[in-house]
Amino acid sequence: MLRLNELKLPLDHTEDQLPAAIIARLGIQADELLGFTIYKRSYDARKKSAIVLIYSIDVELKNQAAVLQRHHHDVHIMPSPDTAYQFVADGRQLAAHPDFQRPVVIGIGPCGLLAALILAQMGLRPIIVERGKIVRERTVDTFGFWRQRKLNPESNVQFGEGGAGTFSDGKLYSQIKDPKHYGRKVLTEFVKAGAPEEIIYVSKPHIGTFRLVKMVESMRETIEALGGEYRFESKVTDIDIEETGAGRQVRGLTLESGEKIVTNHVILAIGHSARDTFDMLYQRGVYIEAKPFSIGFRVEHPQSLIDACRFGPNAGHPILGAADYKLVHHASNGRAVYSFCMCPGGTVVAAASEPGRVVTNGMSQYSRNERNANSAIVVSISPEVDYPGHPLAGVAFQRDLEEKAFKLGGGTYNAPGQLMGDFVAGKASTEFGAVVPSYKPGITLTDLAQILPEFAVTALREAFPAFDKQIKGYFKHDAVLTGLETRTSSPIRIKRRDDTLQSLNTKGLFPAGEGAGYAGGILSAGVDGIKVAEAVALSIAAAQR
Ligand code: FAD
Repeated sequence: MLRLNELKLPLDHTEDQLPAAIIARLGIQADELLGFTIYKRSYDARKKSAIVLIYSIDVELKNQAAVLQRHHHDVHIMPSPDTAYQFVADGRQLAAHPDFQRPVVIGIGPCGLLAALILAQMGLRPIIVERGKIVRERTVDTFGFWRQRKLNPESNVQFGEGGAGTFSDGKLYSQIKDPKHYGRKVLTEFVKAGAPEEIIYVSKPHIGTFRLVKMVESMRETIEALGGEYRFESKVTDIDIEETGAGRQVRGLTLESGEKIVTNHVILAIGHSARDTFDMLYQRGVYIEAKPFSIGFRVEHPQSLIDACRFGPNAGHPILGAADYKLVHHASNGRAVYSFCMCPGGTVVAAASEPGRVVTNGMSQYSRNERNANSAIVVSISPEVDYPGHPLAGVAFQRDLEEKAFKLGGGTYNAPGQLMGDFVAGKASTEFGAVVPSYKPGITLTDLAQILPEFAVTALREAFPAFDKQIKGYFKHDAVLTGLETRTSSPIRIKRRDDTLQSLNTKGLFPAGEGAGYAGGILSAGVDGIKVAEAVALSIAAAQR
């Protein structure tokens, strides 16, 4: 196969134009082209009236060597790299060893899911313990919270099968470096489990909430068929660590029921909201440090405004879908303000996992056809300046803000909200304008500046007019702000060694995914899951030597 990059065609090109463009670009005869697959498709919308699609194509040719030789100076033509996934160990052989103990994966979000899948595919029969419920039951609880204000602290947007990204926009892209093409393995497994095939090749794939639910169920069936074992409603409440001559070593886990599981290998994929588990790990002496994250609120605009600004006359084109945006402003007080987890054509959701606290996030369906665009607009904060001292001080910082948001919303799980114009002008809002907010169970209009730290209010007030220069119309009086966003990423890092991926001071413990500070988003969490599964297999192999 030969990879042809940067092949550009107009947005409305016909099907025939693609092979024709390949033939022309490579300077070959039509009968030399045996076949092709799209590796990636992105678009360039800088010129709104003439949006261009940009393809990377894997091409099968009769005489590849000669074509490659002819184009050897062309940086956009090369042999296709091998992106097939290779297992690092023969797990079946390892599992047959008399000393073999099954590895345990704590948490079945995207990180735990990919870790469990790889371990199962290798033949290492993982045990998966998850504090929440199976995804169907969890969906009932989560929608129950949104509709009836009844929060189940163990079954909600954060906890349960599928993890935090289950009720989400299902964006599947990431900025991580991925020389081993693990991201492709994640996407390929998602497609096998029912995700649309296009996620493999479009530049910014998404799957939306309902498809994610089905995918997670299908992956469970696969893992179980390969010998994996799920335990739902099984919160890990303690970890058994032995002090050996060679340092601290994990020996097992205790579940809330009192049941103990003996194991030497634990993948800790608990997400960024498992605050009680963070505390338990800290009490048990696992090395944890505070890390930066961001705070702010969700902003809702009409999606049509964003589409028109990004795509001009091509707004609404089916290939482009609902437009997204990415914004950054460096405020004069030194803080960075930026958009995060933008959800085109979606809704703002109640994402609390603890009673008496309010926290927001965003989700959408695959169609992304709700009337509003929403995004978190957040200000960066750091332990050195904003929550110094204790490794878990960031958690206390989050809880304080979430409690304030609960109270300001009226103590009913309504979120506090404000119109953008009023926020910048420094006055409380009393009435919505044309933008109808989507947050359920509801919004109490107020003054959000009361509960955010002053530096954040100053930076955000400066940012909105500045964003208007990047997206005309963004600084819109009646755009709705809903608060608060406090869980943009984990407030801690459970540090691990670069070589073995085991905790800095506890062998057999593999901190992974978003909660441990090693991923941010579904795809990167899945990639990290693959990495730690490999590290576990290599560690089991080393112990058996
Ligand atoms: P999680 O998904 O948080 O999974 C952790 C799991 O561990 C949970 O199921 C939890 O119940 C379980 N657990 C925790 N403690 C214990 C314990 N003690 N015992 C047993 N089980 C435990 N990212 C994107 O890339 N694209 C998006 O569109 C997107 N939208 C989002 C929308 C929402 C509403 C939310 C909340 C998040 C969104 N994210 C999105 C972020 C993404 O979901 C996370 O980055 C990702 O889920 C992290 O994966 P993880 O596996 O590391 O942790």
